Amino acid sequence: MEKYSDNWLPPGKKGAVCFSMDDVHPSRSTDYYEAGGDMEKGVLGHLEWLLERHPNLRVTLFTTADWREISPRPTRKVLASIPYLRDRFYLAKRWPKGTMRLDRHREFVDYLKKLPRTEIGLHGLYHCHKGPKIPIEFQGQSREEFAELLGEILSIFQSAGIDHVSGICPPGWNSPHALLEAMVDTDLRFIASARDLFTHVSADAVTNMHGMKGVSLIYPQWVHGGRLLHMPSNFSCSNPLDRAIEIIENGGLLAIKAHAVKKVFAYVSDDGLDLAYRNFIDMLLTFLEDRYGDSLCWTSMGEITSRVFESRKMT
Ligand SMILES: [Zn+2]
Repeated sequence: MEKYSDNWLPPGKKGAVCFSMDDVHPSRSTDYYEAGGDMEKGVLGHLEWLLERHPNLRVTLFTTADWREISPRPTRKVLASIPYLRDRFYLAKRWPKGTMRLDRHREFVDYLKKLPRTEIGLHGLYHCHKGPKIPIEFQGQSREEFAELLGEILSIFQSAGIDHVSGICPPGWNSPHALLEAMVDTDLRFIASARDLFTHVSADAVTNMHGMKGVSLIYPQWVHGGRLLHMPSNFSCSNPLDRAIEIIENGGLLAIKAHAVKKVFAYVSDDGLDLAYRNFIDMLLTFLEDRYGDSLCWTSMGEITSRVFESRKMT
């Protein structure tokens, strides 16, 4: 295993907490499902409520540049049942290109930019792929294809006026080697690939659930030959409070994850930010504030990355 990153935690702090939400894009409740497009009246209203009640909380919104996925599961069932052929086609209807492109939803983008203590990270170009694993956008593409795809994301962000942080949470958690190479080519700095909500917490625990396996469960860690920083996701709505305490007591990063979309047709996402999950996070954060006070570092993936790269430059 590559070494943990030094200096990610400011001196005097016992541990850190960050919060991120995936799948943010302009879909409204009048579309197939809401993903932030209803702004304060939708899922982002829950986020605003949390930000207001917890003045130290920082948020990373992993946002998709031009969301085209409609169904995460194949709806073209016959085609989906034919080996070989099914990998060469889109197995569900998609939004036409550009429908959800961020630079065509100015009001939404302006709203995101006004949210306090909120940064925007990358979460795919279209959030869909040919074949049965629809939401896993990064699969067998080449380094050049990934570089082009990342370039397109960045140019959409630029034309939308979004000042993003330099990292990706890959759709469906998958981060192939060629993607990591293209990220370095594109000057991106962190990848939040591994989600693990089950592995027992300890200083040397490694991830073994979704996305990258064998990276630290609780610390930011260098990957890809020390050229990218990996950020774990280690806490969600299904975890007990004890897991959060264990992560902090081990001097780790409590990385709480939510999703912007709760329900897509018959598919329900456990950690979609609804009222119940919002209230659970509120309780968790209140508990952490009371127990740890100033000894806890409230941070974000973007901030940690800047600190670590900055401190590496100086040594
Ligand atoms: Zn996603």
